[in-house]
Amino acid sequence: MTETIVIAEMTTNGVHPSTAELISAAMTFGGEPTLVVPCTDAAHADSAADMGAGSILAAKSDVFANYDAAAWAAAIDGVAPAGTIITAASPQSKDLAARIAAKRNISVVQDAVSIQNNTVTSPVYSGKAMQSVAINGPTVISVRSNIFPAATGGATSASVLDTTGNIATSVQEFMARASQRLDVSEANIIISGGRGMGNPDNFSHLEAIADTIGAAVGASRAAVDTWEQIPHSMQVGQTGKTVNPNLYIAVGISGAIQHLAGMRSSKYIVAINKDADAPIFQHADYGIVATWEEALPVLHESLKAMMG
Ligand SMILES: Cc1cc2nc3c(=O)[nH]c(=O)nc-3n(C[C@H](O)[C@H](O)[C@H](O)COP(=O)(O)OP(=O)(O)OC[C@H]3O[C@@H](n4cnc5c(N)ncnc54)[C@H](O)[C@@H]3O)c2cc1C
Repeated sequence: MTETIVIAEMTTNGVHPSTAELISAAMTFGGEPTLVVPCTDAAHADSAADMGAGSILAAKSDVFANYDAAAWAAAIDGVAPAGTIITAASPQSKDLAARIAAKRNISVVQDAVSIQNNTVTSPVYSGKAMQSVAINGPTVISVRSNIFPAATGGATSASVLDTTGNIATSVQEFMARASQRLDVSEANIIISGGRGMGNPDNFSHLEAIADTIGAAVGASRAAVDTWEQIPHSMQVGQTGKTVNPNLYIAVGISGAIQHLAGMRSSKYIVAINKDADAPIFQHADYGIVATWEEALPVLHESLKAMMG
């Protein structure tokens, strides 16, 4: 049995709750995973107590103030024991996963959606096929969110290790994104609009529903390309973000293969489209054949009633 190490997914001042899912994923290899928390303050590791790790290592360094791929990979490589490493499958963590794998000269498997009997399954060719990879030795694996249940229990306090890494460059500042809305890559519920919304002002109808149910608002590439008010950060799909929410509501989106690539592993998909033959309906758990002008007000009223 190879040792497993989980690299914590971080927020600005602590460990992201999704890290408990990564620990659960690591446990499928047997044993008790070590959780490495990249932080500037060892107290940031406190939020990892009870996430199921066998031990917690707070890797403390100024490097971890802002994400820099080379610096983070060097610092983490310096502290993480040898073994299979599990990271989140956020854009930043996938970048980090590849860097660490290159440093250690081991394989990387990105976007795992299942780990069973030392075999990792992940989508390839924009989700058109699934690959199964047998893990026979130390490997870096990024794991999508919402796949594994959150682990609980385990270590409650962290040992602290000061680390510097070998830093060639350092990021001085990150500009906050303009929108204060929930990001699609962090949301459990997403309502996305496509070209069928007609114009960008109509996204306010999606935002109103999003506010009622605590969802993020996403978009198709056609919407992003057509209307400058819809930023690329909202784009879901092959050249946008890959999402895996519990509920994905696609409104006025045809269901092109490149859009499906980013959202088809959502647990439940609801499609609202006026064209009964739109491809999105082949992938939807629930479909409403109607214009959004007809469907959204009814849906919103029902959701408001449900939410009390
Ligand atoms: C290399 C490459 C990468 C790409 N990457 C992405 C990507 O990351 N993400 C992505 O989304 N696309 C991507 N695309 C584009 C993709 O191929 C499609 O063009 C795009 O997804 C279509 O967006 P859409 O469904 O909003 O628009 P359309 O295909 O124009 O569909 C609009 C839909 O709205 C419906 N509609 C119209 N009016 C209404 C109404 N009033 N009420 C309800 N429904 C209505 C129509 O029936 C139609 O089905 C990529 C393409 C390429 C070549």
